Amino acid sequence: MHQPDCIFCKIVKGELPCAKVFETDHVLAFLDIAPVAPGHALVIPKAHHVNLFDLPEEAAVRLFAALSPVGAAIMAATGAAGLNVQINNNAAAGQVVFHAHAHLIPRHEGDGLRLWSGHPYADNAAMQAMAAAVRQALAPSR
Ligand code: AMP
Ligand code: ZN
Repeated sequence: MHQPDCIFCKIVKGELPCAKVFETDHVLAFLDIAPVAPGHALVIPKAHHVNLFDLPEEAAVRLFAALSPVGAAIMAATGAAGLNVQINNNAAAGQVVFHAHAHLIPRHEGDGLRLWSGHPYADNAAMQAMAAAVRQALAPSR
């Protein structure tokens, strides 16, 4: 259930401190130690799973069920007008701690935090081909 060398497992076990904001039998939420904005929190399953792809459905449901109430509380406590939910999966996506977690980042008008910028597909055929490739990966037998 826990990995001895995982910092979030150590937080769950009480071996490392955290600024806890929410807890159930299966989920823990605490403030990020290096917040993008004050109130930035992490919601984690108490059991060790590497990231979203390693989360059993039941654990994913429990994690996601916590996002709305904890996110709403962060907005209320910080006076934020919005909130980003971000989950980084694998190093290429910026994951640094390999224990699944969702970031809850309170947002304020004009706070200057930039998300990604989009670029359109070359044409509709390229977009349709990509959609087909993803459908194929989801259900290769069809
Ligand atoms: P990620 O890039 O999604 O893996 O983000 C990991 C996050 O964990 C970073 O935002 C860190 O600031 C945060 N973090 C790392 N160690 C701790 C800790 N001991 N307590 C709270 N947050 C932490
Ligand atoms: Zn862990």
